[in-house]
Amino acid sequence: MDRRNSPWIYLNLKVWGLGQSATLAINERSRELAAQGRQIYRLGLGQSPFPVPESVAQALRDHAHQKDYLAVKGLPALRQAIVDFFRRTEDLEYDADSVLVGPGTKELMFILQLTYYGDLVIPTPSWVSYAPQAQILGRPLQWLPTAPETGLGVTPEALDALCRIEPERPRLLILNSPGNPTGTVYSRDRLEAIAEVARRYRVLLLSDEIYSGTQFDGDHVSIARYYPEGTIISNGLSKWCGAGGWRLGAFVFPAGLNKLLRGMAAVASETFTSTSAPIQYAAVRGFQGGPDIDVYLDRSRRLLQALAEFAHARLVETGAEVSCPAGGFYIFPNFESHRERLLQRGIHDNASMCERLLEETGVACLPGSVFGRPPTEFSTRLAYVDFDGGPALEALAELPAGELPDAHFLRTWCPRTVAGFEHLADWIAS
Ligand code: PLP
Repeated sequence: MDRRNSPWIYLNLKVWGLGQSATLAINERSRELAAQGRQIYRLGLGQSPFPVPESVAQALRDHAHQKDYLAVKGLPALRQAIVDFFRRTEDLEYDADSVLVGPGTKELMFILQLTYYGDLVIPTPSWVSYAPQAQILGRPLQWLPTAPETGLGVTPEALDALCRIEPERPRLLILNSPGNPTGTVYSRDRLEAIAEVARRYRVLLLSDEIYSGTQFDGDHVSIARYYPEGTIISNGLSKWCGAGGWRLGAFVFPAGLNKLLRGMAAVASETFTSTSAPIQYAAVRGFQGGPDIDVYLDRSRRLLQALAEFAHARLVETGAEVSCPAGGFYIFPNFESHRERLLQRGIHDNASMCERLLEETGVACLPGSVFGRPPTEFSTRLAYVDFDGGPALEALAELPAGELPDAHFLRTWCPRTVAGFEHLADWIAS
């Protein structure tokens, strides 16, 4: 057969129509505009503004010579440091053998969805990559309805209503606290109530705790405390340790899910083999913690909290419906109260709202639709981390312990974030 006239490439149908991750796309467009000389306020991408703590960076330098492939589940010393971390921070007991280390939690989430057989259940809105991963793998996806009064997060009632329809169906619920894109943190009572429903229907739970160390009150609570037998915990260095580009994440499994862990480790052995050796050695230092990391976390949280409160107050002034984040890097306003005005300006959905905002003010943000909200709802995710965290953390050392930085501090050390929110608020009101 002569193949010269047939298509060169055949795309797997599951990947058909899948664009580049929305967060990366907005970043690229922002870079293009910046290259044209435009001032860009990068409220689109959520990467930690803070440097990796010096002791962790030093550990990486010290282990640059580590060149061997490591065990697929991870370096034993790192797995031990991770279980010690959960004992120290959450009072949870695991065996080092119950840890699977990977090149970022995103990759582990993909392998989990590939290995576990069941529907994916996530609230609307949810982080951008959970749903595309399900699509790539052909997993059925169920969106849980949410309400502003409950921080747009999972409620036990919504989970129960979904599970009741087909109680025997295997399901994987991802619970993310502090949450991306909303900054919502689940109370202990709510976690307990969700755990009760999950137990009733044997729902497998992935607790995405990647922002745990950024929770402003420093008191993160894992749902694994209430549902240990059915919860896998996901955490890593990307957010609280400022090391997104290092690509290190880990899952911790309860003993009863050992079969799933073994299945995932088998897939890992056939795909990424093992996570970068020097990074794993350095991560031991990160998970071990210590006084320097406590100070780093305390200062990061105070600055993030002050920025969240500033952003919230500014958005409320515009008439937006928005809850104040309790952790993480993001805030998720809804400008439905400006619907008529936006329509008059020819803006009919959240994607065109974000495009126009970027073109007219240089403020980059992400439309609510990429988080699973309806395209016509005027919601958007704004990240309040467009600043250089190194000098800001040093300046914070001058503040009395426990004090939040004031508006003057934010204008001095986080000028682009402050200006970005001011421009956004003016644009919405204009
Ligand atoms: N979960 C959430 C909610 C995130 O925001 C991110 C990164 O942006 C991840 C998971 C993935 O993190 P990583 O793959 O860097 O561990």
